[in-house]
Amino acid sequence: MGSSDLDSSQSLSGDRSWSIARRFFLTSFILIVAQSGLSLAISGKLWRDFTASHLNFALSRELLRPLNLVDNKLDSLSAQEAMECCTREDYEYFLSDIDLADGKAVMISGSAGLVPGKGAQSLYSPERLREFAHLATTSKNRFSLVDFRDKNAVAVKSMNLSGGPETGSLIYIRPIYNMSLFNALNRVRLFSEIVLMLSLVVLLAIALTYILKPIRSLRSRISNIQPDNLDTALISLEGQPVELQPILTEFNRMVQRLEASAKNQKQFASTISHEFRTPLTVISGFIQSVLNRAQDLDSRYRESLSIADKEAFRLNRMLSDLLDLSRADNHQLKVLREPFECILSCREALRLAQFAFPNNPIRFDESGFEDSIWVIGDPDCLVKCLENLIGNAVKYSEPMSAIDLVVNVKDQCVLFAVQDYGQGIPEDQQERIFERFVRADGVALRRGESSSGLGLSIVKMLMEGMGGSVSVQSEIGVGSRFTLTLQRSLS
Ligand code: ADP
Repeated sequence: MGSSDLDSSQSLSGDRSWSIARRFFLTSFILIVAQSGLSLAISGKLWRDFTASHLNFALSRELLRPLNLVDNKLDSLSAQEAMECCTREDYEYFLSDIDLADGKAVMISGSAGLVPGKGAQSLYSPERLREFAHLATTSKNRFSLVDFRDKNAVAVKSMNLSGGPETGSLIYIRPIYNMSLFNALNRVRLFSEIVLMLSLVVLLAIALTYILKPIRSLRSRISNIQPDNLDTALISLEGQPVELQPILTEFNRMVQRLEASAKNQKQFASTISHEFRTPLTVISGFIQSVLNRAQDLDSRYRESLSIADKEAFRLNRMLSDLLDLSRADNHQLKVLREPFECILSCREALRLAQFAFPNNPIRFDESGFEDSIWVIGDPDCLVKCLENLIGNAVKYSEPMSAIDLVVNVKDQCVLFAVQDYGQGIPEDQQERIFERFVRADGVALRRGESSSGLGLSIVKMLMEGMGGSVSVQSEIGVGSRFTLTLQRSLS
């Protein structure tokens, strides 16, 4: 995808993409409105239910009795008296008979002013009484609660006094004794608010998980990008949050640059290893022929030529590894997956290893299994892997240390283990050593030996190419055991 494609996909997807901030804002807004609505509904319902079922009942019982008294008095008025009602004296007359007990107070408020009943003034100040009168006469149903959260809370109720020009209201004040019920109500309200708030937090967390999902999925996609899957690393901008789109555009450009550079690098490695191999083979051939033909060569020259030959061999091997890797990267490496007899391959690998490392006893115990075992894979690749592992076993052990090659048949698999008794590999390095150019920290290389960090990555690549695997078990100071596993062929 070119950069213009990237830009166009950005503008194409612009209509359908969304913004994290907008989603977050909308979700929070909806949740807050919902929470407030629910909260209001809960407290309103609780309040209504509570006042309806408890308070109104309890208070009306207490309120009716004294008001009935007043009713009776009003009923007993003659028509003339009613016409003249109600003067201040009438009010006082009404109040004089009302028996007030346990802190209840009564008064009359009307055009003749405020007339407190017996004891009302000892309970409440004139301002407070005026406030009560005002609340009682202006409230809905002429009934009101005053400061009911307070322990001096009261209920006030007013009743119209019928009569002549100086009419008024009889106001009855009753302390609320059942505050515990109010407190219980408040606790229920508080509890339901807390439950609501917690639900809100949970909902918000769920919403956030959902909102941030694209970012998490992006993170996991980006963290899965490896040098060998750069071609699938481009991320489509479609449906991505608008905030991420410019970053993703830059990211895609960077991937394209990386891909181009990786391609160049692979091409370079492939060309170099290819071009170097021919002259190196020629040099090696000439050295060999001089060593073979010149019988009377001075021992010092012979030694120098042997060293040169060894180095040329090593260089050749490294180039061949590099070439294999770059072929594998370009999907040009051919690894067979067909049945072959693997004991022959083990013998071949053993022969080559014994020739290359004459000082190390390299043992292959063939007594434990039948003569021929068939596996699925590529015989040349198996030899190459075994050679590689035996080479490492020799390289990372004491000179002349023994190496064992052990073959085992297990279920449908055949295991080829190369066991050494060398320095071992630290546990935290055991997974890393199969990566390219990685050398284990804490593993020392003997003088004169060299290491590229390529061998095990090639073993892994070839084994996987054959449908098998490689693993390691190792203990510091005891030794290492590398095991190759291939599928057994039963045909
Ligand atoms: P190289 O041996 O060329 O460095 P390899 O890929 O074969 O590359 O090995 C990677 C690393 O694993 C080595 O550098 C070494 O640190 C460690 N290693 C491999 N085989 C052994 C072994 N048999 N014993 C101890 N360490 C080993």
